[in-house]
Amino acid sequence: MGVIVRYYADAERRDWHGHMVSLLERIHDDHDIPVEIDRIEARHGPIDAFPEAINHPTAEAVYERDLKNNRVLIENIDQRPSEAYKRSGDLAVAGHVAIVGDDVHWASTLTGDAYGYGPGASSKTAIDFLEDVADSPSDRLCVGCLELLDSEENYCPNCGRPLG
Ligand SMILES: [Zn+2]
Repeated sequence: MGVIVRYYADAERRDWHGHMVSLLERIHDDHDIPVEIDRIEARHGPIDAFPEAINHPTAEAVYERDLKNNRVLIENIDQRPSEAYKRSGDLAVAGHVAIVGDDVHWASTLTGDAYGYGPGASSKTAIDFLEDVADSPSDRLCVGCLELLDSEENYCPNCGRPLG
């Protein structure tokens, strides 16, 4: 199963958005991991010279396809998608990132970076996830089987692949 790192764009803040696009480019260039952008809301102008696909789905289509009723996602984020990706009843998907195999396996539940959220938030935020994967993918996931990792393992506990 191949892995794709997907960004639901655009993040609300321009600096977050620019940083996330450049982290995706690093993940693609340095680690040969496929990346893609689902550009739900184009808030911040054109994205130039992105190395891979930019799609333009609606938030509703993304929510139905990737998030709603996704049992693996619900187990991995420990929240209902209707709580994590809605704000006062409206869909709030733009600004998040997802690990995608056959289906979405995990997605951030906090936008931006951990600053301001308090302890423990960095494992849930979109920017901290991309930074970790850009530095060393196996800090966060096994690219062989998409098992989520916490950077302590030498071998994937699910498929046994050595992590380095
Ligand atoms: Zn694995």
